[in-house]
Amino acid sequence: MAVLAPALDKNIITPSSMYLDEATTFNDGTDEGYSPTDYNDYKGYITVRQATESSQNIPFVKIMEQITPKTSIQYMKKMGISTLTKTDENLNLALGGLDKGITPLEMAAAYACIANDGIYIEPTFYSKIENNIGKTVIKSKSNKKKAFSKQVAYLLKSLLKEPVTASSGTAKYCNINGIDVAAKTGTTNDDYDRWLCGFTPYYSAATWFGFDLNETINFNRKNPSGQIWANVMKKIHSGLSKSTFEVPSGLETLEICSKTGEIANSGCPASYTEYFLSGTAPTTFCIEHSASSTTKSIKDTTNSNNLQTETPDNQHSSKEEQHTQNNNSTSTKQAESNSSVSPTKSVNNTSTSSEIPTTNTSTNTSSIPDDSNTIDDDTNFFESDDNTFEQ
Ligand SMILES: [Zn+2]
Repeated sequence: MAVLAPALDKNIITPSSMYLDEATTFNDGTDEGYSPTDYNDYKGYITVRQATESSQNIPFVKIMEQITPKTSIQYMKKMGISTLTKTDENLNLALGGLDKGITPLEMAAAYACIANDGIYIEPTFYSKIENNIGKTVIKSKSNKKKAFSKQVAYLLKSLLKEPVTASSGTAKYCNINGIDVAAKTGTTNDDYDRWLCGFTPYYSAATWFGFDLNETINFNRKNPSGQIWANVMKKIHSGLSKSTFEVPSGLETLEICSKTGEIANSGCPASYTEYFLSGTAPTTFCIEHSASSTTKSIKDTTNSNNLQTETPDNQHSSKEEQHTQNNNSTSTKQAESNSSVSPTKSVNNTSTSSEIPTTNTSTNTSSIPDDSNTIDDDTNFFESDDNTFEQ
């Protein structure tokens, strides 16, 4: 979120941009430099999409270096994050190492901004209050502001599906049958905090798991905040219709070599269809694999909204259906967790609070009414860019 949204919006990356994932020391103004490590093995040259799938840290820090932490903070403020400070203006921001942290409510609202096609909606806790004769006396107003375009939002949705659907995804247990899920796992140094933030076409939710006083979280294989997220979200989605993220017009699709991120030719061993903002698709063919023929076919999503039917031979064929065991046996002792769930689209007018099962978690819910202020799509209401921090 801190990296991909600004980098895509500013055309600094596309989903197929290549980054070298290897041990790297970044210049952060100190003598020793900044040397983050990957949680998994280094993977060599990978695309942004592949880096998102298995949460490789190095490419994200490299992109943060390109966009600058200052720009990242501007975007996070647009997405409603209010707790960032001057101290956060460094490369570690890419990995979520923050001075004061972010509340689960603000995290859920920030991810809902992606789900709501780039429109940030301020969370509210009620939709309306009626008097004894059923007359509405107070109606909730949600302030809405545009943070980025719906095309950028779609690229984010598409990228954030990777952790759930791809073979080495970090959040495969969050899969919900028949409903698109976008999710991102998060952890901080020494495993003090565990996050799972994500959304579907229906709801956005963020779960934090950790101790009041920083202490390493020990768990067996599955991220405990992810387990909570998956259990709550599966339950509130049961009975809802199948739904996928809608592809907006104004994007282009192109067949890409999985190894080089360039336009695939007939000799590429693996290729897939990638989405691009108009005019940002790669223009050169893969030269690593020799071709017997080359055909470049950029397609515009204005005319076709269904990617799968365009290129039946080259989908992400390794996607697996995942069935999560509802086995919540992670030992938590005094660790607490906080979850926030908010509807990403106005499914109905009922508050989500009654739909959330009681786990031993404290759950904040916010419900966004569907009849609040309309958006002026052309206006960016943010007075941002002044880089002042209310600290
Ligand atoms: Zn190739």
